[in-house]
Amino acid sequence: MKLARHGTGPEIFESLQGEGLSMGVPSVFVRLSLCNLHCTWCDTAYTWNWTNTQYRHVNDTPDAPRKYRREEEIIELDCESVAELILKFRARNLIFTGGEPLLQGRELARLAAHLLRLDPACRFEVETNGTLRPPPALDAHIAQYNVSPKLSNSGNSPTEREKPDAIAFFARCERAWFKFVVANAADLEEVRTLQNRYDIPQSRILLMPEGTSPDELREKSRWLAPLCLQHGYRFGDRLHVHLYGSKRGV
Ligand code: SF4
Repeated sequence: MKLARHGTGPEIFESLQGEGLSMGVPSVFVRLSLCNLHCTWCDTAYTWNWTNTQYRHVNDTPDAPRKYRREEEIIELDCESVAELILKFRARNLIFTGGEPLLQGRELARLAAHLLRLDPACRFEVETNGTLRPPPALDAHIAQYNVSPKLSNSGNSPTEREKPDAIAFFARCERAWFKFVVANAADLEEVRTLQNRYDIPQSRILLMPEGTSPDELREKSRWLAPLCLQHGYRFGDRLHVHLYGSKRGV
């Protein structure tokens, strides 16, 4: 299994879930490496933005694109070793995040089954960009999907970011909650288009302000909160940004 490297080990840490339906729940985060998209504002670009690729990122400067050396950013471990690291923590709400964790769906299915054998109290959430369907062996173990489809503000082309089969799967799945990162009022129109196209229930949509600092979040929340009220969407904050800023591994 390919995980994001943090220091000498994999990026596995305990924190409060920062976003979505279970915001505030003590959780263990398992950050997998690799992604099939390339969002310009991605805050985990060390999982995909490799040297010698053409992707643009907001952290680029005119002379120096901010790139990462793949061999330095990935740590490969078997599922038994990953499980051992996870179970050292107290929380049993376990969050598979990335990157795009469903690129390694089969490995995650093995990990989830192994963890449940060791401790049946484990509960699993998957954070996904909604472009890949989970394999059935993994789906059987997942209590909650936090699906974050990307909009045009991400810099991905429509065919890259919108995979009808995958979005339709999550729209039908009652364990899937959609969280959209909204940077401006025009983004709301894109949300409504996707919602109508895939018949996503309004009650399973959260809108979150875009921002990597508490000030930015507060400023955008001022106009997003009334829009949520007006259109009947749940408002979602980003607790981890308020608590820790854009620090990694917390
Ligand atoms: S889908 Fe997520 S991990 Fe992948 S590039 Fe976009 S924000 Fe980053």
